Amino acid sequence: MTIQSACPCGSGEPYAACCLRFLEQRAEPKTAEELMRSRYSAFAKGHITYLKDTLWPRHQAGFDAGATAKWAEDNHWTGLTVLATEAGRAGDRDGTVLFEARYLAEGRLQVHRELSRFRKKAGRWYYVEALPEK
Ligand SMILES: [Zn+2]
Repeated sequence: MTIQSACPCGSGEPYAACCLRFLEQRAEPKTAEELMRSRYSAFAKGHITYLKDTLWPRHQAGFDAGATAKWAEDNHWTGLTVLATEAGRAGDRDGTVLFEARYLAEGRLQVHRELSRFRKKAGRWYYVEALPEK
């Protein structure tokens, strides 16, 4: 995939104008959805450090970079659909994003559906945890 190609997150934007600038730390996501999308792209592109850096700081110590890298590499990431968002805008401090991430694992299509909670600290959005769906 070249830099001109479509972003893995499915926004329809070129990769360079979408998640790549976040993964390369040239810009910061302004909304919870942008952070969520960039984390999906980080899985798809193997940016493991970004996945750790965007975890809620207290959770970073428990991050298993090796296992995450293996999971990211072993699967072929085929698409993301954002189903719903609640708050998480530029002026908010908290937000949730409900999404489905699709990937091929050993040739089988899998869907990872998650309601993710995001929180802002010192002006930056972080991924906190998966919530039970209501
Ligand atoms: Zn993107």
